[in-house]
Amino acid sequence: MTLHDLGLCPFFSDQVPEEAPIARILSEHRGALLACTGRSTLTLAAHEVASVGDWVLWEESLYGPRVSTVLERRSFLQRTAAGAFDRKQVVAANLDHVFVVTSLNRDLSLNRLERFLVATASGGIPATLILNKADLGPHQAQLEAMRPLGAPVIATSALSGLGMEQLKACLSPGRTAGLIGMSGVGKSSLLNAVAGLELMDTGGIRESDARGKHTTTRRELFVVPDQGVWIDTPGMREVGLTQDADPSVVFADLEALAASCRYRDCHHDGDEGCAVDAAIDAGTLSDRRVQNWFKLQRETDRAVRRHAAATQRVEARRRKAALGAIATREAWEERREQKREQLRRRRDTKQRARRS
Ligand code: GDP
Ligand code: ZN
Repeated sequence: MTLHDLGLCPFFSDQVPEEAPIARILSEHRGALLACTGRSTLTLAAHEVASVGDWVLWEESLYGPRVSTVLERRSFLQRTAAGAFDRKQVVAANLDHVFVVTSLNRDLSLNRLERFLVATASGGIPATLILNKADLGPHQAQLEAMRPLGAPVIATSALSGLGMEQLKACLSPGRTAGLIGMSGVGKSSLLNAVAGLELMDTGGIRESDARGKHTTTRRELFVVPDQGVWIDTPGMREVGLTQDADPSVVFADLEALAASCRYRDCHHDGDEGCAVDAAIDAGTLSDRRVQNWFKLQRETDRAVRRHAAATQRVEARRRKAALGAIATREAWEERREQKREQLRRRRDTKQRARRS
């Protein structure tokens, strides 16, 4: 396998000094990273920045191979870390395309799909919506419902092969595609169908971890001959939007509509001359989409405020620590001065005693 097959292109190779050993992260597992150099795989010590899909430079160390540099990313998919709203978590890096997968046997949640689309668009990644398991019954209504979301829609079946040609048309060697969606919608099955191999059904791959122990690693990045690189993300129920998310990229139609409301500060909620309300009344726009637009905007605004507050807290702590250091230094200098004064007095007393 060549580095080009793995997705290496001038954007990354231009960042690399000559002869520096480069690798791409295949998966993260229990404090270790599995990476591929093109010729072989290696296990690197966990790193606080490097995520699946990242290109890294690595080096040998006393404790085994480790990441020395994470190359600048071309794109990335991120969300708020579970349970820590002000922390961002990169789900996958350097994606050229994302397939947002849902399936016919689930309640179709357009809100969830829109949220996924905001996350991908905010990371600079074009997305296609996939309605999988289309073999299970009529699916035209669901497809039609998905169209207004503004991304291309494909009906697929990993079982019957429906839609595979359309899906493959989005891919090419050296390009990286990501699969996101809830677990059970058929992401792994789609990848297997595209690859024509049982890539994922191996129950994990045995690898050596950083301490030379054998562990089972669930690989997430695959190179599929002629179909480029695929990253299968773990099932995601929700993506919490971060302060970097921008819903307007997915709701550009609503932004444009809102610009033609009579009043600039229109709330689009029964206001006089509201173009958004008029579109809902005319049946060309769904109230659901407008409500979700509001909701995702509120969520990103909250993320921005929380991030600003967290930054302020860090800054305040830093300033307090610095002031503390100054106070400690002043106290220390004062004590030193007192000691000197004591010594001076003692010396004077001794001298006076000697003279007399
Ligand atoms: P993942 O969690 O998204 O990776 O989903 P899987 O690929 O593991 O699939 C979950 C279940 O759905 C499995 O039992 C698959 O056999 C089934 N499945 C996947 N794709 C299809 C499909 O296109 N049609 C049907 N009928 N079942 C599917
Ligand atoms: Zn309005």
